[in-house]
Amino acid sequence: MARPSLRNTVFQAEILALLKAVEHAVSLPTQQLTILVDNQASIYSAANPKSHNSIARKIFKLLHSHLHIRVSWIKAHAGYIGNEEADRLAKEAAETENFPETPLELPKSFIKTFLRQKMLATWQMAWDDGDTGRLIHNIIPKVSLDSINWTRNEVLFFTGHGPFPSFLQRFNLAETSFCSCGGIGTPIHYATVCLLTTSYHMAPPS
Ligand SMILES: [Zn+2]
Repeated sequence: MARPSLRNTVFQAEILALLKAVEHAVSLPTQQLTILVDNQASIYSAANPKSHNSIARKIFKLLHSHLHIRVSWIKAHAGYIGNEEADRLAKEAAETENFPETPLELPKSFIKTFLRQKMLATWQMAWDDGDTGRLIHNIIPKVSLDSINWTRNEVLFFTGHGPFPSFLQRFNLAETSFCSCGGIGTPIHYATVCLLTTSYHMAPPS
């Protein structure tokens, strides 16, 4: 049996296991044989020629052209020796590190969601550990695909990328980063403490 990669659903694993069993049965000399399966969902799927699952359709075709092979349901954990042994082997295989993984066909929606989560997690890590944009990181610590719709003035203020001595000096566009009042000319300075803009002040943000 091949080990499915972790993100595959239990159902995908069950139906793949059934395919492997049927393929094995097909390779045997022709004789009446029955495959006992404790997973009802995969039996139902495999019995439906129009199943959305391509593995299920494959099983259906194989069984249809090999009528000597039957599939039958068996109750799980009921003490059937073969069934218990299969469980034991599956557990053992799952604990084996170097077992080759089997690529499975996954639903498109599943892959989309999975990749989006992965991308957001990677982006979040880069955002948390980055060196640039730290001012914005203080305001918006969590990455998101939704636009925040800041106005031009808000962008200038929050990023500090505007007509402020603190910003202009970084690019040699101003002699110093100081405001005429003697403080450092950051947006927050003008908005909260600068003596020259007292009438526009607001409370300092926490
Ligand atoms: Zn000032």
